[in-house]
Amino acid sequence: MSEGLARGERAIRALILGGTTEAARLAEACAAVPELEIITSLAGRTRAPIAPPGAIRIGGFGGADGLERYLREQGIDRLVDATHPFALQIGHNAEDACRAAGVPRLRLLRPPWQRQQGDRWIEVDSLADAARRLPPSGRVFLSVGRSDLGAFAGLAQWFLVRTIEPAEPCFANARWLAERGPFRLEDELALLCEHAIDVVVTKASGGEATYPKIAAARQLGLPVIMVRRPPPPEGPVVDSVAAALAWLAHRPADSRILAGRST
Ligand code: NAP
Repeated sequence: MSEGLARGERAIRALILGGTTEAARLAEACAAVPELEIITSLAGRTRAPIAPPGAIRIGGFGGADGLERYLREQGIDRLVDATHPFALQIGHNAEDACRAAGVPRLRLLRPPWQRQQGDRWIEVDSLADAARRLPPSGRVFLSVGRSDLGAFAGLAQWFLVRTIEPAEPCFANARWLAERGPFRLEDELALLCEHAIDVVVTKASGGEATYPKIAAARQLGLPVIMVRRPPPPEGPVVDSVAAALAWLAHRPADSRILAGRST
């Protein structure tokens, strides 16, 4: 794709809103393109995030206004929102900030999982609905992310809770696992069997890293309570790193990204 920078051209300065595998893969792909200068932004929720190549900044911007200020101060030319499908607030902030600063924005959204024959999915609209659909007594594998455990706190069922970082115990009966994907099908099958799990609860995150729990539930004939994705903010969406890379690296004929910063 890359032929290097032409005389008088400067690199396209792009901000990737990250915290996902796709964001890290996009930063890796961009590192091979000299026309691109990448900053990845992480929320700072995980203590030892996997560091993508290129510059990294960590922590919130302070709302849409803060992000708009950052875009202007850093001379950002393009933004890719590659955050998790359930990270809604930052997506809306990016929409507002990019509109205000006149920065083109693209949403990189991983494809959703597709229901297959044998899947026993119970699709619900919220974590609260998922909690309401649990069988009154039973053994639940809860894999929804540390910040979403509150909807299940205090329930009487037995929970196997898996999060990337250790979480505050909020269940009377639970076993806690702090593990980061990617996970393997054989390990997920063993986990569900070892703990005699009756039902799996997950968000419809999509992606390969956490799909094995879905495949394992199918193999074992277990129901999966699946929280549907929220709709993404307005604007262009792609579902692959390759498409996001092509969008970032595309230099229109009348590009303003020439020598010196665009204002
Ligand atoms: P969120 O609810 O959409 O965002 C809450 C606030 O966190 C934002 O307003 C922003 O603070 C800050 N923030 C979020 N993502 C950021 C980023 N990439 N860089 C800088 N600040 C960011 O987000 P969330 O659901 O808590 O997710 C936080 C991070 O974890 C995201 O990077 C996301 O990709 C990742 N993640 C989320 C999930 C999930 O299920 N939600 C799962 C896996 C990974 P300010 O308003 O101060 O700017």
